Amino acid sequence: MARDTFYLESFMKTLLAFLLSLTTPAWATSAPDAPDWYYPEWLAEAPHAPVFKVRDTVNKYGRYASEPKIITIKDLIKFHGHFCGGLVEGATALRVAFDHLFPDGVIDRTDLMIASNNSACGGDIAAYLTGARTRFGTHLIDPKLKESDFVVKRISSGKTVRVVINAATYPHDVRTQMKKIESGQFEPADIDRFQDVQWAYAKKLVSRPAIESVDVTDNPDYTWPEPPCKDMGKRRDNDYKNVPEAH
Ligand SMILES: [Zn+2]
Repeated sequence: MARDTFYLESFMKTLLAFLLSLTTPAWATSAPDAPDWYYPEWLAEAPHAPVFKVRDTVNKYGRYASEPKIITIKDLIKFHGHFCGGLVEGATALRVAFDHLFPDGVIDRTDLMIASNNSACGGDIAAYLTGARTRFGTHLIDPKLKESDFVVKRISSGKTVRVVINAATYPHDVRTQMKKIESGQFEPADIDRFQDVQWAYAKKLVSRPAIESVDVTDNPDYTWPEPPCKDMGKRRDNDYKNVPEAH
C-alpha cells in the first residue's frame, strides 16, 4: 500500500512538472534584457538605450567587488515601478554625468552623492544608479532643480558635474500635458495622450547618443541643499571597501 502511494506520488510529481513546463511563461526563461509586457520591444532594441556598469562592495563590511554589475533600463523599470519619460530622461542625463566622472566606464556606487528635484521618477533613478540615499544624506532634494536636472559628485575626489536635458530636446508637450493633468481639469483621454507624448520623448532619447540630448557642466557653481532627513545615523556598509586582503 505504502509502495503504491509512493509510485502514485512520483507519477503525480512528474505529471505536474511536465504540465508546468508547458505553461512556463516566456519571461521565466528569457534573457534579462529581453522585451516584456512592461518593457516594449522598441526600447529593448533601441540603439542608444543607456546601460550602466556599476561597482559595489561584496557584502556588508565587504571589500570592493572585483566584478561590476550591469544595470539596464529594464532594471530601472522594475525598481521604479513603471516605464515613463522621466525614467528615460534621468537615465540619459546621468549617463552623461557618469561619463564625465568615471572615465574607466565603471560607476562606483559607494562614492557618489547627488542632488535631484523631488520627482518620483527622476529621484528614483538618481538613487538606484548612484547608490546615494536620502536617509544617509547623500541624495539631496532641491526643488530649484528641474525634472531632468542633476548635480552629481564623486565624494572621494570632490569632482562634480551638473547635467540637464538641453533646450533643443526639452519636452514642452510632455510638460504641458503634465500640468493639465495635475490641474485636475482633464478628460480620461488626456491620460492616454500623456503616455503617448512621454513615450515619443523616450523614443527620441534612446535613438541617439545621450550627449546629444544633454548639457553638461563640470565643477558647477552649486550650493548643496541641507539633507531633507534628520540625522538617523551614518551609513557603515561601505566603510571597509579598501581593507587589504588577509594574509
Ligand atoms: Zn515614472
